[in-house]
Amino acid sequence: MPSLTTEQWEALCKRCGLCCFEKIRLPNGRVLTTPIPCRFLDLHSRSCRVYSKRFEVGENCQKLTPELVASVDWLPEECAYVQHLKQQQALPSDSHASHTPRKRKKRR
Ligand code: SF4
Repeated sequence: MPSLTTEQWEALCKRCGLCCFEKIRLPNGRVLTTPIPCRFLDLHSRSCRVYSKRFEVGENCQKLTPELVASVDWLPEECAYVQHLKQQQALPSDSHASHTPRKRKKRR
C-alpha cells in the first residue's frame, strides 16, 4: 500500500465531524453512532473548538492514524479515511507500480 505523508493523510479528512459523535456498542456487537456530539464539536462549522489540544482535553479523542483507522470498527462508513483504506485494499498489490507515471522521452 503506498504510504502518504502526514500532510496528504490529513488532507483526506473532509471535516464532516461524524467521528465526533458518541458511539455505543450494541449487544449484537454493532456500533451505533448517536446524535450526541463531543462537547468540543462546533455543530455549525463541524470543527473541533480545541483542535490543537484535543488529545489533552477530549476524554476519548484519538489520533486517526492509518493503523488506527484500519483496526477500529467505530468510524462511520462515510469517513474519508475509511473510504480511502477500502479503496487501497481493493487495489491489486502491484497497483502502485502500475500507476507510477512514466517519464516522457524528450523529443529532439
Ligand atoms: S468522520 Fe472521517 S472524514 Fe469526517 S471528520 Fe471524522 S476523520 Fe474526517
